[in-house]
Amino acid sequence: MDLLRTSISKNYKLYITQCRRMHLLKKQAYINGQWVQSQSKVLFPVTNPANDSVITEIPDMDAHDTKHAVQVAANTFQTWRDTTAKERSRILRKWFDLCEKNSEDLAQVITAESGKPLSESRGEVAYGNSFLEWFADTARHINGEIIPSPWPNKQILLTRQPLGVVSVITPWNFPFAMITRKVGALMAAGCTCVIKPSEDTPLSALAAAELAHQAGVPKGVINVVTASRKNAPAVGQVMCEDHSVGCISFTGSTHVGKILYGLAAKGVKRVALELGGNAPFIVFASADIEHAVDQAMLAKFRNNGQACIGANRFLIHEDVYDKFVKEFKARIGSKCILGPGTKEGVTCGPLVNLEQAKKVSGLVDDAVSKGAKVLAGGKFATELGNKFYESTLLINVKPDMNIFTEEIFGPVATCLKFKNEAEALKIANSTRSGLASYVFTKDLGQAFRMSQKLEFGMVAINDGILSAAEPAFGGIKESGIGREGSLHGVEEYTDIKYTLMSGLDK
Ligand code: NAP
Repeated sequence: MDLLRTSISKNYKLYITQCRRMHLLKKQAYINGQWVQSQSKVLFPVTNPANDSVITEIPDMDAHDTKHAVQVAANTFQTWRDTTAKERSRILRKWFDLCEKNSEDLAQVITAESGKPLSESRGEVAYGNSFLEWFADTARHINGEIIPSPWPNKQILLTRQPLGVVSVITPWNFPFAMITRKVGALMAAGCTCVIKPSEDTPLSALAAAELAHQAGVPKGVINVVTASRKNAPAVGQVMCEDHSVGCISFTGSTHVGKILYGLAAKGVKRVALELGGNAPFIVFASADIEHAVDQAMLAKFRNNGQACIGANRFLIHEDVYDKFVKEFKARIGSKCILGPGTKEGVTCGPLVNLEQAKKVSGLVDDAVSKGAKVLAGGKFATELGNKFYESTLLINVKPDMNIFTEEIFGPVATCLKFKNEAEALKIANSTRSGLASYVFTKDLGQAFRMSQKLEFGMVAINDGILSAAEPAFGGIKESGIGREGSLHGVEEYTDIKYTLMSGLDK
C-alpha cells in the first residue's frame, strides 16, 4: 500500500511538473498582446537537435504579418514613449522576477530546441535575467545635460529620446539571453519592438514573451514574429525598410549583418550590430598554465563552441606550448562529455543543425588536409546522432588554413606557437573580426600593452569569460557596431535631442 502511495505521489509530481512546464511552450506568434497564427496559416516545425523529434509547429510568418507587427509596435510607441522611467523600471523588474521564478521552465525550453546541456541553459537564463534586472535599474538613469550657453538668456538642453520601433533579429546560440539583452535595454529607453528569432529556436523567444505578458508589459510593446529560414529574408526586409522602424538591432553572423546594414542604409536607420568573432586566446610564458587551461575550457567549450566570443585561435608561447597542449588535451579528455542536453553529467550537446555540423567538420577536414594534426576528437560521434561532433584539439595549425581565418563556431580548439609579444599581436590582429580576445600573463606591463594594442572590442586578461550585464559588450571592425549591456546599451536606443531655450529674459 505504501509502495502504491509512493508511486502515485511520484507520478502526480511528474504530472504537475510537466503541466507547469508546458505553460511556457507557446505554439503561436505574439502580436499586440495576443497569440496569433500567420495570415497564411502555414506552419513550420521546431525540432530538437539531439534527436530530430518535432517539439511543436508554429506560424511561418511572412512580409504581411511583419508589416502588421511593425504597425502595432509603431502605434504602441505613441503611448509607451510617454510612460515614466519609474513605470518602465517597475515593469522590467516584474518581468525579471517572473523569469527568475520560471528559470527551470525556461531552461527546459532552451535545451529542447537548442540542444545545449541543461546546466548551460540554466546559466543562460541567469545571464539573460541579469539584463532585465540591470535595465530595470538603468531605466531610471537615462539622463540629459544642461550645457552653459555661449549666449545670454539662453539655455542648451540635451535630452535623450527613444528611437521608436526597434527591429530585433536574434540567433539560435543564446536564444533567450540575446533577446533580454536587447529588449530590456530598448524598453528601458522607451522603445517598442518586433522580434524575429531564429527558425531553430523561436520557442525561447515565445516563452520570454509569455512571461513579459504575465508581467504586465503593455500589449504591442513586445511583438514576436516567427518565421522559417525560407521566409527570413522577406521578413527581414520589412523589419529593415519599413518607415516606422527607427533601429535594427541584430545579433548574428557578419554575412547577414552586412545584408541588413545595407537594407537599413536605404532609410538611414540606426543599427546595433553584434556580429561574428575570431577570438585569439594568447598564453605568454609567465602565465599560470593550470589556470589558463581551466579558462581555455570555458572560452572554447561553453555552448559546445557555439559562442561569438568563443576562443577561435589558441596562440601559445613556444616555452610553454608543449605543457599547455598536453594539459589541454588531458582536460578535454576528462571534462568534455558529449550527449543529449537533458542527460545528467553531459557538458557538450549536439551542434544546432546539420548545416552547422557540416561547416565544423569541413573546417577540420580542410585543416588536416593542409597539415594540421588531430590530438583529440576530429570526427562525428555517430553513435549519438548526426549532429554530435567530438571535442577536438588540433595542432600544427597555420594561418593559411580556413579554420584559422573563419569563425569555427564549434567544439574545435586550434593551437599555434609564437616566439614573442610582437608576433603574438601580429597574428592576433590579422583578422577582420574584432570581438573578444583573451590574454594570459603575469607581467603587468604586458597586460596593459596587450589591452591597448589588441584590435578587439573586448580584452579579458587572465580570464576566459567576460560577459555580464554591467560591462559594454561589443565588437569593432567586422564584428559590429554599438554596445550592449551597461548604460551604453540603453543609450544605443536613444537619440540626443538638442533644445535651445531662448527668450529667458522676457
Ligand atoms: P545568422 O545566420 O546570421 O542568423 C541570425 C538571425 O538572422 C537569425 O534569426 C536568422 O534567421 C536571421 N536571418 C538570416 N538571414 C536573414 C535575412 N536575410 N534577413 C533577416 N534575417 C535573417 O547567424 P546564426 O547562425 O543564427 O548565429 C551565429 C552567428 O551569430 C555567429 O556568427 C556568431 O558569432 C553570431 N553571434 C554574435 C553575437 C555577438 O554578440 N556579437 C552573439 C551571438 C551570436 P534563421 O536562423 O531562421 O535563418
